[in-house]
Amino acid sequence: METLLGHDRTISSALFEEAKKIFPGGVNSPVRAFKSVLGPPIFIKKGDGCHIWDEDDHQYIDFCCSWGPLILGHNNAHIRESIYAAVAEGTSFGAPTRLEIELGRLIVDNHRYIEKLRFVSSGTEAVMSALRLARGATGKSKVIKFEGCYHGHVDSLLVKAGSGLVTFGESTSAGIPEAFAKETIVLPLNDREKLEETLEQEGHNIACIIVEPIPANNGLLLQDPSFLECLRIKAYKHNVLLIFDEVISGFRVGFEGAAGYYGIKPDILTFGKIIGGGMPVGAYGASAELMGHIAPDGPVYQAGTLSGNPVAMAAGYAALKQLLAPGFYETLNAKTAGFVKALQDFADAKGYPVSFPSVGSIFWVAFARERIIAAEQIDPASMNHFKIMHLELLKRGIYMGPSGYEVGFVSSAHIDADLAQAVEAFKEALD
Ligand code: PLP
Repeated sequence: METLLGHDRTISSALFEEAKKIFPGGVNSPVRAFKSVLGPPIFIKKGDGCHIWDEDDHQYIDFCCSWGPLILGHNNAHIRESIYAAVAEGTSFGAPTRLEIELGRLIVDNHRYIEKLRFVSSGTEAVMSALRLARGATGKSKVIKFEGCYHGHVDSLLVKAGSGLVTFGESTSAGIPEAFAKETIVLPLNDREKLEETLEQEGHNIACIIVEPIPANNGLLLQDPSFLECLRIKAYKHNVLLIFDEVISGFRVGFEGAAGYYGIKPDILTFGKIIGGGMPVGAYGASAELMGHIAPDGPVYQAGTLSGNPVAMAAGYAALKQLLAPGFYETLNAKTAGFVKALQDFADAKGYPVSFPSVGSIFWVAFARERIIAAEQIDPASMNHFKIMHLELLKRGIYMGPSGYEVGFVSSAHIDADLAQAVEAFKEALD
């Protein structure tokens, strides 16, 4: 029996050994390999509501929720039935279908900043296409991104700040030509002077500024809304397009995502995760005028064999329709606020240096008391605390994403009793 400090992973360990013979690192996406936490990854066999079960038959309350898509929890009955109905008619045609219009119409009618959109199959693809649109529409090539924001594995965005006054990027992955990384300027979040300086100097070459308006891939780096407003104003001033990457925040903090939450209009928005109801869907949207640059209307080429896939569209429609029910977000966000407050009250009473920043139904466990708004404020040593907490939580039936830099998600399927149970488990784990 493969136990790790009391957590039995016999079957998961055997599966991992098998998986390592087939996939790099045994996984199909790196963080799943549990490199940042203790022990081999647990293999999941099913999910229902807020619960998942692993191959060794442990049950967990899931706060990873497939990294965000499952705002309605696992195995949502309405999504499941819609998928079944779509599958019964065939799984892919590579031709237009009514289902694309239904999901597209639902979004356009309920999102004040989107006039037209295009469906793709992942968040990465949405971002990649949005950059191409920005470049095609402006005729400029450089991009500003921010340290601590992640936008999928797009070549020119897997970069960190290099040195120098205007910091052109250095790639963070092998296999990315230097020339691609040099197209990206990486700035610190919340540094308005550096932003203005960069735009003054390079604005004539810059196609767009891309930002996660709620940066949630490197901890939860909640920005002052005034910084996002500043991006909007400066983008207008320098004739640069503003892209909100809402792959996480879209349909999460409200139906209109962060743009609606803060009331700031970006030029282009990118989506993934929730938009597909648990199926592989991404999208990018903008004004009708900007989207007019996309093929076949315009010269910016973008296509996909499985784009607008009918099964995925049916899942997305069934999910988003439920989010539009009156009070959906108010209830979910209030529930999350109560959960986070209970955790914070406990940490405060014990004097633990832990805080739980949150927005909507997103939360993060920060092993620091001060407010963290930029990537460099995170102490890498604090991740050792997360490692231990992660194991202690697993032993107590709580599943968090296997990295301390990742946020947690609450779904509508987490009922009060689940959250109360989770609070008790967190208390013991923190102790
Ligand atoms: N953009 C953001 C903000 C993300 O969080 C992610 C994924 O986590 C992506 C883009 C890439 O999406 P995908 O993993 O679907 O390619």
